[in-house]
Amino acid sequence: RLSQRLLHVAQHVPKGARLADIGSDHAYLPVYLAKRGLISYAVAGEVAQGPHMNASRVIQQANVGNIVQSRLGDGLAAFTEADKIDTISICGMGGALMVDILNASPAKLATRPLLILQPNIGMELVRSWLAKNYYQIVAEDILRDLGHVYEMMVAKPVTKEQQLTTDEIFFGPCLLKQKDPAFIEKWTRELKREEKINDALTAANKENTPKYREVQAKIKQIKGVL
Ligand code: SAM
Repeated sequence: RLSQRLLHVAQHVPKGARLADIGSDHAYLPVYLAKRGLISYAVAGEVAQGPHMNASRVIQQANVGNIVQSRLGDGLAAFTEADKIDTISICGMGGALMVDILNASPAKLATRPLLILQPNIGMELVRSWLAKNYYQIVAEDILRDLGHVYEMMVAKPVTKEQQLTTDEIFFGPCLLKQKDPAFIEKWTRELKREEKINDALTAANKENTPKYREVQAKIKQIKGVL
């Protein structure tokens, strides 16, 4: 069974997509979609041998080898033009690595596929990359599962660079508007954390430090959206 996190990602994959799931590990996402007839084709890309083997096994056991291909490759190198990929998903890794993967092969993005990205951390790096690279965030999702908060975004190609405000980059343009309970919960917790640091710095007479000013700015920014 798919995790709540990947179920949410799955719901954003367009019906009949030709998907490249990069860093697929067990290939759970493409296999889930293929079994339900929700995609027409998928490449499950993995850079590491172990996860690649896991993917091959899961694909074989689910009997969807006619739809999902397990490929060993670094990032977008896992697929070629011949795969006619129209949607790329990258889930469960840090935003910095995600951006590295996207930057590494501009040619693989020449056909301007839809991007579905679920960074564990560093969401702001991913949002900045999208804005600069002519991608518009058209949907965002936040959920709490097994004690973690997960965020994901869907970005479609557009013809000009997107201007996002600092708040939009930091909190997410759609999440800011939606204000889901998980969003409020996440940022209320972050605010409490920053306030604790603030109190500790005050108690230590460190109001004149860059760290203190940084914490003050963070508190102001978070309070502004809650
Ligand atoms: N996408 C799955 C998910 O969300 O459950 C698996 C996430 S797992 C934590 C991250 C996977 O990304 C690992 O299996 C790792 O081997 C793979 N990975 C890391 N860097 C990669 C790269 N440059 N290209 C392809 N896969 C990569």
